[in-house]
Amino acid sequence: MKKGWVLIVLLVFYMTANAQMTMDERFNKYKEQFIQQLWTVYPGWASSVGFHKLDSVLIVPDERSRQKEQEFCIRNLNVLKTFKLNELSDLNKIDLHLIENQLNYSIFNLQELRAFEWDPSSYNVSGGFADILANDHMPLEKRLRSFYAKMEHVPEYYEAAKANIKNPSKEHTELAVEQNDGGLSVFKKDLDDALAKSKLSKEEKEMIRTRADKSVVAIEGYVRWLRAEDGRNHQARSFRLGKDLYEKKFAYEIQSGYSASQIYAKAVAHKEELHAKMYEITQQLWPKYLKGVRMPENKLEAIKMMIDTLSVKHVRPQDFQTAIEKQIPALVEFIKHKDLIYIDPSKPLVVRREPAYMAGVAGASINAPGPYDRNGNTYYNVGSLDGWSAAKSESYLREYNHYILQILNIHEAIPGHYTQLVYANQSPSIVKSILGNNAMIEGWAVYTERMMLENGYDGDKGYNSEEASPEMWLMYYKWNLRSTCNTILDYDVHTRNMSKDDALKLLMQDAFQEKTEALGKWKRVSVTQVQLCCYFTGYTEIYDLREEMKSKLKRKFDLKQFHTQFLSYGSAPVKYIKEMMLNSEERPLLMNKENEKVRLERAKEEKAKNESKAKGQRSGK
Ligand code: ZN
Ligand code: ZN
Repeated sequence: MKKGWVLIVLLVFYMTANAQMTMDERFNKYKEQFIQQLWTVYPGWASSVGFHKLDSVLIVPDERSRQKEQEFCIRNLNVLKTFKLNELSDLNKIDLHLIENQLNYSIFNLQELRAFEWDPSSYNVSGGFADILANDHMPLEKRLRSFYAKMEHVPEYYEAAKANIKNPSKEHTELAVEQNDGGLSVFKKDLDDALAKSKLSKEEKEMIRTRADKSVVAIEGYVRWLRAEDGRNHQARSFRLGKDLYEKKFAYEIQSGYSASQIYAKAVAHKEELHAKMYEITQQLWPKYLKGVRMPENKLEAIKMMIDTLSVKHVRPQDFQTAIEKQIPALVEFIKHKDLIYIDPSKPLVVRREPAYMAGVAGASINAPGPYDRNGNTYYNVGSLDGWSAAKSESYLREYNHYILQILNIHEAIPGHYTQLVYANQSPSIVKSILGNNAMIEGWAVYTERMMLENGYDGDKGYNSEEASPEMWLMYYKWNLRSTCNTILDYDVHTRNMSKDDALKLLMQDAFQEKTEALGKWKRVSVTQVQLCCYFTGYTEIYDLREEMKSKLKRKFDLKQFHTQFLSYGSAPVKYIKEMMLNSEERPLLMNKENEKVRLERAKEEKAKNESKAKGQRSGK
């Protein structure tokens, strides 16, 4: 009764107080309030994106907090209904869809998926505490006090976890044991180190230490309880999601225009296409690399031999970082020469070599500032192989060989993740940076790999290369098989009961992966669902959209224009970008000079067209 009344007051408030505002103004105001409320419901999430006012709050995951979360969702879904979608700008329309999806997803999680009952690894406090210690934007003493305050409810937190868990899956139980056990060091050594460095009084340090000991007892108690739970003689739930829940989770998580089963069918067909192309190249390259060697009759075996032969070409371990750095200007040059996408010259990529203590996480990744730190630098972290054994380096470098390293750079940096990020930051929407669509973000990076090769990119041939070598293509196809098979694996495992043996066969035989990689993937698919599909789904949707735009615009289709407009909507689900690109004549909304020029030219064109139309009407045509 009371809640319903509050709701009505809220609605009336929204409708009257904002009557004279435009729909967009009202919505912008609402978005700010929404985010503030969101953080009080999910303080841990707030901390992880750089909003630190609630660092000291730990929500106890009991029935009461779930009730609060559900009320928050229902209340906001009702408020969303008061906005007229067709009166909002394109960017706000997408924000509304994102918020709505998030709220419905949460309700689905609470009511249907109910992972809080069967996934014990969803309970782990150590990450949030580790973040407090790692955040060097704030004085250590202040952070330690947040740490202390946040620890207050740790014992209750784990009591609530135990009360929630019913029939957990074996796989998630094992993961929870492993991760909670691993997190203990945060409350022991990591905290001790921080305390030693701090200027807190001896009394305060002792107070913190005592409470940390209680946290350790709570975590150890949880781990012990889980181990006993695991040994208890009940029927553990399967880690497999089943078709119904899988389709629903896919819809909320990926927000694709395709259903999970449609994407699965596409992935299966794509795998066959890739194999056919790979075999063709293998036959073509055989005399060049394996002359006199008998080609195996099994096509996949023949392809594997060719891949292994080409993989031997790679940089020396000590040149790994330099090789990556050197490619960045080459990529920019190529893109400019081919006119593929506008790259803002005022935002060059800062390549940062990972400090030695981080060695061990080789590869490369983009490190972007969060929504609350917009002026922070974006780094391209490039790992080194310092301190690796010769065998480990060699196996890693064969994987990231001469060809794959180039594709990795396209994906992570230019025109992949980094370029997308620069565009996303031009239409700053906190909603998009918090609820941004992962399938679009990963899909874009995967799409650009193919797009660059289609346009002839090949590091060996320079900026005016017309055609990528067959070697590049073969390696690209192998790389692309990974995201394709991730999708097949995820769907088959969760909805069609695929066995571990069949999964390993898929990854090792069909996708040419090494056993260690395949085993790691099996572990991942048995504790996550849907995530593995985001790469292939996003890629497929972007590629399909491009082809649709091509056939719609025919000779007027312009690749650079397509890319620029596509990215101008920010990290939004491809299905909404598609809707807007297909339905509107509106051009890019970006605020860079290039687009300003394009916009002015278009306006002139439009004016001339209207004038001649008017003339035509006057002359009676
Ligand atoms: Zn080698
Ligand atoms: Zn990526």
